[in-house]
Amino acid sequence: MPKKLTGIEIYKLLPKTNCGDCNLPTCMAFAMQVAAKKKALESCPHVSEEAKEALGEAQAPPMRTVKIGSGKKEFTMGGETVLFRHEEKFHHPTGVAIRVPDNMTKEELQGHIHNINQLHFVRAGEELGINLLAVEHRDGDKGKFAETVKEVMALSDLPLLLVCSETSVLQPALEAAGNSRPLICSATADNWEEMASLATQYQAPLTVKCNTLEECADLTAKIKEKGVEDICLDLTGDTFLQSFSNLIMTRRLSLEKSFRPLGYPTLVFPTSHQPFERAAEATACICKYCSIVVLEKGDSWELLPVLTVRQNIYTDPQVPNAIEARLYKIGEPGPEAPVLLTTNFALTYFTVAGEVESSKTSCFVSVVDTGGLGVLNAYADDKLTPEVVIKTIQEQGALEQVQHKKIIIPGLVAVLRMEIQEETGWEVIIGPEEAAGLPTFLRNEWRAS
Ligand code: SF4
Repeated sequence: MPKKLTGIEIYKLLPKTNCGDCNLPTCMAFAMQVAAKKKALESCPHVSEEAKEALGEAQAPPMRTVKIGSGKKEFTMGGETVLFRHEEKFHHPTGVAIRVPDNMTKEELQGHIHNINQLHFVRAGEELGINLLAVEHRDGDKGKFAETVKEVMALSDLPLLLVCSETSVLQPALEAAGNSRPLICSATADNWEEMASLATQYQAPLTVKCNTLEECADLTAKIKEKGVEDICLDLTGDTFLQSFSNLIMTRRLSLEKSFRPLGYPTLVFPTSHQPFERAAEATACICKYCSIVVLEKGDSWELLPVLTVRQNIYTDPQVPNAIEARLYKIGEPGPEAPVLLTTNFALTYFTVAGEVESSKTSCFVSVVDTGGLGVLNAYADDKLTPEVVIKTIQEQGALEQVQHKKIIIPGLVAVLRMEIQEETGWEVIIGPEEAAGLPTFLRNEWRAS
């Protein structure tokens, strides 16, 4: 294992300008984070090539960053530095892949890829979708695998996993994939030398699969000696519990113990035969560090909870999840439309907006800048006060858009009502405490005059 450098040794090689471009206030703070393996040296854009060379392996992050594919849809995984996201953040969201077996007819394959291409969801203002396709050799016909790869590449620009253990079948598929850098799945104790040669020849990342983590560590070391650096660990066990425990142990060993032979991104194929259980397995794997989960079909009911969990886990806890504070129109609000008030915490706004849309009542929504805090937190932090509400409504000109002088505030901050009314003469209506109550409230309670 390379010698561990101290923060001072690393600091001596940094530019010492304290420019803050690494999101830390000083070069010393950055050096301490690099020494603690919580930041990669690459996070400083000004570090010299000489310093990189001098620091060598010692500064290498505990988990390698690996890229699959090329161009706009290139997928990046690994490079993680912490066990728990509140310690810093998780850097690369889990990739969600869908299986594409090579035993489909041409029509079935086209239909499958067409369905996958439609899988886009918008949640909290962010577009969610899948990242990879796992083309899998199942057919006895050896030529079919390469043909399927060609066909898939013509129909989709998502990066590929090539799932095939026979090198004679894999090579033509890699040839068909050209320079698109698919992830080869998987090298095992039996085929690793040939697989490593193919990975080198086609400049492609390689997955390693073994029965135990000890065997995995041995194999990654041997494959690395052959010159393959971009490695991924297939940690799928015989049972879900085994896969889950493999994920946790690998992350702990690589990050806490700096055990380099397991310092790679990971992949799991959820194995349950029950579709609901498979979706649950996939979400559990996302919560516990998995870099890629491979789903069976990509039905939207299966995919949506998986993508929702991924979105929640991979938000950056250091960055408020906020939207722009301004006056929003939902539907086509006219002079009699309600004026609702909410905060600029993205999830709060999009929940309110979703409920208003489903109520079929066009509204104005005045969004207060609370620094990305939800209603109660903003109130507790003095970011949602009568003064802030009045200033926001006036600056956004919300009541100039309508003929009435009424605003609807969230039920959770009913306490603001009297002061706003007394200061402005507006009528302040107490809305429901939960956004889910908005459709009924708008239908039964709202009257413009
Ligand atoms: S970006 Fe580099 S030079 Fe700037 S403060 Fe961070 S470590 Fe120092």
